[in-house]
Amino acid sequence: MQTFRDRAAAAYDAERFRRQGHELVDQLADYLARATRGENLPVLPWAPPAENATRFPATFPEEPAGELAPFMERVLAASHHLHHPRYVGHQVSAPLPLGALCDFVSALLNNGMAVYEMGPASTAMEHNVVRWMAGQLGLPEGAGGVLTSGGSAGNLTALLAARQAKAGYDAWTGGASAGPPLTVLVAETAHYCIARSTKVMGWGSAGVTPVPVDAHFRLRPEALEDALAAATRAGRKPIAVVASAGSTATGAFDPLDAVADFCERHGLWFHVDGAHGASATLSPRFRHLVKGIERADSVVWDAHKMMMVPSLITAVLFRDGARSFEAFAQEASYLFHGQDTRRWSDIGLRTLECTKEMMALKLYTCLSLLGTRLFADYVTATFELARRFAGRLQASGDFEVAVPPDCNIVCFRHTPAGLPASELDALQGRLRERLITRGDFYLVQTTLPKGVYLRTTLINPLTADADLDALMDALRAEVSAKRGA
Ligand SMILES: *Cc1c(COP(=O)(O)O)cnc(C)c1O
Repeated sequence: MQTFRDRAAAAYDAERFRRQGHELVDQLADYLARATRGENLPVLPWAPPAENATRFPATFPEEPAGELAPFMERVLAASHHLHHPRYVGHQVSAPLPLGALCDFVSALLNNGMAVYEMGPASTAMEHNVVRWMAGQLGLPEGAGGVLTSGGSAGNLTALLAARQAKAGYDAWTGGASAGPPLTVLVAETAHYCIARSTKVMGWGSAGVTPVPVDAHFRLRPEALEDALAAATRAGRKPIAVVASAGSTATGAFDPLDAVADFCERHGLWFHVDGAHGASATLSPRFRHLVKGIERADSVVWDAHKMMMVPSLITAVLFRDGARSFEAFAQEASYLFHGQDTRRWSDIGLRTLECTKEMMALKLYTCLSLLGTRLFADYVTATFELARRFAGRLQASGDFEVAVPPDCNIVCFRHTPAGLPASELDALQGRLRERLITRGDFYLVQTTLPKGVYLRTTLINPLTADADLDALMDALRAEVSAKRGA
């Protein structure tokens, strides 16, 4: 008769862990080799949600059953393969295997560190990797911040601090109605999470005041005065401008210096959503895109996008590191013993999360062991790949680029000869569906003022020019096949 002790001992058995771990790493290494070659492997093994829900049903045995390897084989077979060179879809990294190993360590140690004692090593790494990132951006001495779970949580964190700094009243304690209603000026191309953040803060739809963009989808700084006046007329108190360093749809970089000038003139908080594009600062060739970011009051920077580490790891950086304590300025005395609440080492004071992963471990380790050059070259290489791709699309005669790319996001559409303009939107959607359900490529689509465009993020360092030529050919072939049929 097995007791609970026997069962627990078996579940925590170090020797079984050793065996399973070795097998799993072998399995994943084989997988990685196949995925990076892109051989005999669909990018996305497309299946309707209900089919996968049947594959992974809500039934579990009462007693131990089955082996890990075949179980994981089923997971791998049903998953999206981001290391495939023809994965050119959303802004999610093809993670460095070393980063994945670090997440494995994080999961076993589980040193999630709301308080220092729960994660002494990871707290120190977080403190210093955040300072390193702030330094890369050119933020001054005294800058600091935290790591959090994604750009969406990061932007909310930064805007909470902006509110405490600029509202003129204590909205944290008194609530959103304790003073005049607030708003932030935001380019209409900003990520939806900015509007979601202001709604979470209780500011309603007018919590975001849209600022028009130019033909390159970059915020028009000369439109800021009008936006400010419009917000004020509507009875709102503007507290900040949010600029995108890499907007989501087209990857456009807003003119940061001009926005910084405007914020200085009007005493507004300057926040940069650099979730995707703050990494441009690592590339000597493309650093100019984020010129002015060093003047920001706060910056959000995702390392799981353009730093090749697994999700999630987002830095929220403050020019004045002490501001970071004001995002969640509540008393949590059971955690912090009413001691000096400005201690950097109890990071939970400054994050939406209480417990979190050892997020810093993967970035700190990859920077330590792989060196910074890889990261700089990665940004340069993917941005250049996108420029070459856009050049070939433009020269082709049967493709059209929405806008010359600022970074590694390219929006384009196929315009086969003889197709009426009215059918172009539907065509892009159909083409995308064919390619992704067949598993040849993974790309996404976006609706811009001029219509529907195919959208690619060249985020996988293994994607080559030849893959993108093959994408153009596959799109053409799809149209020919349809015409021939
Ligand atoms: C991806 C992205 C976000 C959201 O970040 P997550 O890490 O996915 O939550 C926010 N803003 C911009 C500009 C982004 O590119």
